[in-house]
Amino acid sequence: MQPILQILKLKIGRIIEHLLPAQCLLCCLPSNNKLICKHCQDSLLQDRPCCQRCGLPLNKSQPFCGDCLKKEYAFTQLHALADYQKPYSTLLKKFKYTKQLINGELLAELLIQSITHNVSKQQLSQIDYLLPVPLHNKKHQQRGFNQAQLLAEKISKRLNIPVLVEAIKRQKKTDPQEGLSLSKRKNNLRNAFITTGKQQAKLSGGYIVIIDDVVTTGATVNSLSQVLLNTGVQRVDVWCVCRTVLST
Ligand SMILES: [Zn+2]
Ligand SMILES: [Zn+2]
Repeated sequence: MQPILQILKLKIGRIIEHLLPAQCLLCCLPSNNKLICKHCQDSLLQDRPCCQRCGLPLNKSQPFCGDCLKKEYAFTQLHALADYQKPYSTLLKKFKYTKQLINGELLAELLIQSITHNVSKQQLSQIDYLLPVPLHNKKHQQRGFNQAQLLAEKISKRLNIPVLVEAIKRQKKTDPQEGLSLSKRKNNLRNAFITTGKQQAKLSGGYIVIIDDVVTTGATVNSLSQVLLNTGVQRVDVWCVCRTVLST
């Protein structure tokens, strides 16, 4: 009798769970069967004034930051959902380091909404492939997944743009870019990415969007963009969840 009662209890619990409205991942209030409630969504999707080139926040209503007036990036445009701050940083950490993949789904969903709000339909229709920043094999094995690839797959389904994997490989395990001098950063990334030969034909003349979770100095996505341009890609943009503001 005892096991049957337990099974019944479990089943009733599940039925009640289904009847109750889902809770918002952030504030725990009812969320109408969505991952987060309307209030949290509105506050997370607030427009952020930023440089149209590199995505760094700008106070004034200028199109480009001082840095972008001086230096050239290999990518044309970077779009970030937000600056690297709470609650985005917390959601990202839970997603990457504790494998709570639902947080990744939420971030991808927010990024999609931010993209469709900021990038025109015409521009979206010109994009050939999404390319997640590749992880080094060892890191991929340790983590069990590539966070950029999971984000790219979700965006791909919603925006109907195919994901390109295995075209580029990360052949060198790089040190974190933060805290390194400019020359060390460049050296750290030298030959970090190589084309693999597989799928390479698809790159030629294409418009590729690199997908990353966090862009810090911009050096990694810039180095990857350069490799893509060298392979014959015509235009590279970057979409990421967070853009870190460096205090240097
Ligand atoms: Zn909420
Ligand atoms: Zn800029």
